[in-house]
Amino acid sequence: MTDLPPHWHAYSWTGHERPADSDRNNMASATPPLETAHWLRKSVKPEATWPVPEGAEQAYAWLRAQLEEHPRAAHDLPYEPQMEYAADCLARGADVVWGYYSERGRYISRTLVACPRAGERCPAPPA
Ligand SMILES: [Zn+2]
Repeated sequence: MTDLPPHWHAYSWTGHERPADSDRNNMASATPPLETAHWLRKSVKPEATWPVPEGAEQAYAWLRAQLEEHPRAAHDLPYEPQMEYAADCLARGADVVWGYYSERGRYISRTLVACPRAGERCPAPPA
């Protein structure tokens, strides 16, 4: 077990299409892994680390900025429900996992990984 306080790590990846599973399973690749917890095994460093629950506001602001920069296509899930679901996850200290196509046709992966978690090493302990 670990003595680390609970926190989230923020990860993002943007590409032309959803990456192949073989690439996602490659821990040396920066593509989003198939299992959320495996972000912690990837060679890529998290963009940010925020404590639970104090960091929820910053995490929410990060997600909102990401969604505003990369809006979903018009026929896709509207902005409000997506942000409400994120707020609910953050209130519970849970993961937030987004993978969608933007209106410009890019594949957007944005994830907040709750850490610590069993069987995984923390890649960037909170200061
Ligand atoms: Zn961690």
